[in-house]
Amino acid sequence: MKINYCLPIIKSKADEVIKTLADHQKDYDYFEIWLDYIKDFNLDLMRNLNKKYGPQLIFLFRRRNLQKPKMDLEQKIKIMKMLDQSESFLDLDIFAQKKELALLKTFKKIRFIASYHNYQETPGDKKLHEVIALMKKYHPEIYKISTLCQSPSDALRLIDLLTELKEKNASCIVSGMGQKGRISRIAGAIWGNALSYTPVRIREQSAEGQLTKLQFNRILKNIKICYFVADPAKHSLSPQMHEAGYFALGIEDKFLFLRRRVNKRGLKQFIDEVKKDPHFCGAGISIPHKTEVTKYLDDIGGIAKKIGAVNTVIKRGGKLIGFNTDWIGVVEALQKKIKIKGKKVALIGAGGAARAAAYGLIKNKAKVKIFNRSLVHAKKLAQDFGCDFSDLNDLKEITKMDIIINATSVGMNEDKSPVNKNFLIKNHLVFDMVYSPPLTRLIKDAMDCGAQVILGKEMLLHQGAVQFELFTDRKAPVETMREALT
Ligand code: NAP
Repeated sequence: MKINYCLPIIKSKADEVIKTLADHQKDYDYFEIWLDYIKDFNLDLMRNLNKKYGPQLIFLFRRRNLQKPKMDLEQKIKIMKMLDQSESFLDLDIFAQKKELALLKTFKKIRFIASYHNYQETPGDKKLHEVIALMKKYHPEIYKISTLCQSPSDALRLIDLLTELKEKNASCIVSGMGQKGRISRIAGAIWGNALSYTPVRIREQSAEGQLTKLQFNRILKNIKICYFVADPAKHSLSPQMHEAGYFALGIEDKFLFLRRRVNKRGLKQFIDEVKKDPHFCGAGISIPHKTEVTKYLDDIGGIAKKIGAVNTVIKRGGKLIGFNTDWIGVVEALQKKIKIKGKKVALIGAGGAARAAAYGLIKNKAKVKIFNRSLVHAKKLAQDFGCDFSDLNDLKEITKMDIIINATSVGMNEDKSPVNKNFLIKNHLVFDMVYSPPLTRLIKDAMDCGAQVILGKEMLLHQGAVQFELFTDRKAPVETMREALT
């Protein structure tokens, strides 16, 4: 990981700019010079700086917080003319500097950084993609997005954007402003931001949330990284839930939780990578890897072995160990509503999540019957855990049961239910493991007939809280993590 450190220089005198550059030439790769603040600015200064530092320099006409600049357009044109003949960069805001942007048609050789600043918020993904599309029209050498993050999930969205741009081989800088945006600066450095803005002293920040180079390096050296691994991975709420937990405990500079889209073919490579990575701490594993991952681990906990699926990997003493926390998620979510012992449960599905549920339910002495589309899968699960089974044609039997659990993927991002609404009754407790959308068709149908319900997010929370404790060795702040899921 090569990090390009950039020193923002906001000085009122030309001499101070020259001295800062000379003092830090060895410690920094790039220098960002805020021209509008230099009161005794003249073109000779530009000429000399360009000659001495050329490709290490980035010039700006902007002011902090996009305040109105003082320099007139005529002077800017002279500067752009000079930059057209140099190797230095010019950074222009895509919305705030339209006149200067129009001049790029004349000065085609300028090394251009297209930037977008939003000091109020991190807009939705649609708007961010529109910004990128607009930038693309100017053919920038580097894309820069800098927005205020009001929550860890804003920062995580920025990290997703960075990943997306990197996949398209774009050179980019994605950095969230504010305290909540810092994780995007750290993750950005690890995942290939073209520049990391790190002032020498905190009072020299050019944007809120920047860390000094010393702080930045200290965090990078000690950071522990956890991943949510799946394909697709973008839908997952786990990163925002864990990040909210880190902030609540004040350990947001010690842990980072990122999404990683890993396809079936890439799983082994991912495991090899994290095994070698000293920063890797653990991973939440999801579809389609929960069974396959067991082949690549050094050890697997007894319960995960019995369930036959791993949803959590942790690194201990250089070894990767697999666990299953899904069954705890099921049991915790149910116990908040009902006493499990002796209850008749219809468990629909026979995949990894159903196996985890079957383990938890039988351990807590429920009477479980499996219903599944493929009878062979239902039979295998039923034999492994000692319960009854049937296929989905017999679902009308559920009217005689207490708890109905959907452990299939039916209803995920679709308005479908695995259960005919007519089979649901008021006395049921209906639990849908699917959490996207939060109110699935099954849950809506159950609510319509007055049944109690448990949403998939409740399971996600409790299985995640156990993961959190395995990763951090700290008690999970469950309520904060729950809020992060809303
Ligand atoms: P899985 O191992 O791939 O199993 C999928 C199950 O769904 C199988 O029983 C499969 O039946 C059934 N199925 C798939 N499509 C179906 C259809 N069109 N009609 C009827 N049955 C169908 O997946 P999993 O890991 O067990 O996950 C299952 C669901 O639970 C997913 O939606 C997942 O997101 C959710 N989940 C939620 C949490 C949480 O924390 N809330 C945790 C884990 C999983 P066959 O055997 O016939 O193929």
